[in-house]
Amino acid sequence: MLLSVSDLRVAYGDIEAVHGISFEVAQGELVSIIGANGAGKTTTLRALMGLQPLRSGKIIFEGRDITSLPAHKRSALGIKIVPERARCFPQLSVYENLKMGVYGMQSKLAGKLAMIYELFPILKERGTQLANTLSGGEQQQLAIARALVSDPKLLLVDEVSMGLMPKLTEQVFEVLRSLNRDKNITILLVEQNALASLRISGRGYVLETGQINISGSSAELLADRRVREAYLGA
Ligand code: ATP
Repeated sequence: MLLSVSDLRVAYGDIEAVHGISFEVAQGELVSIIGANGAGKTTTLRALMGLQPLRSGKIIFEGRDITSLPAHKRSALGIKIVPERARCFPQLSVYENLKMGVYGMQSKLAGKLAMIYELFPILKERGTQLANTLSGGEQQQLAIARALVSDPKLLLVDEVSMGLMPKLTEQVFEVLRSLNRDKNITILLVEQNALASLRISGRGYVLETGQINISGSSAELLADRRVREAYLGA
């Protein structure tokens, strides 16, 4: 396993938001954690990244216990996050935003940019434009691209479909699928959009009020009566 999480508990003050969840992600997988508003998805990802302290639990990455490592050290190990409503540097151009991502690896810039532009042709077209003038979907692409330039081993993606029109959601999910399939990047996706995320993932977990009660292959989840009723509008 690339990532193994056991009995993760996270609280805000006295109020526990995540009640001891366990899940894992193998190298090369694309795994979804689906859940409704307030289920604890963002809290879980922030805890994985080291941005939110744990009440208890254990996080193993590449066989190493990283439970008490600070966020920057987890990032150095190759764990990268695309936060919810990811913000880029608004007053920098698209190109400058990407360049910030390869900070310290300037020799790799050209190669990285070629890979990014192949995945996101729009970012090449919009290279000189200020990031805050991009559309919502373009900003999401830039946020994913920024996480990619630093060679992630595990990409954590928080609600990438939030606020996007269905057509753009489809495009962004298609990019994630191709990153996983063609570039062999391991991805953990947390999403309210159960249908779109399960369609591109191999497996999934259902997070409900801080607990995981249902998990399985995406095909199993898409066929599960409880999932269909609660998340797929069926
Ligand atoms: P959404 O899709 O709405 O972002 P989510 O599944 O990501 O939902 P979280 O943001 O992780 O859910 O929130 C889980 C629970 O923790 C919610 O009850 C929320 O109100 C609470 N919570 C989140 N952030 C804080 C905070 N900073 N302080 C106190 N409670 C919080």
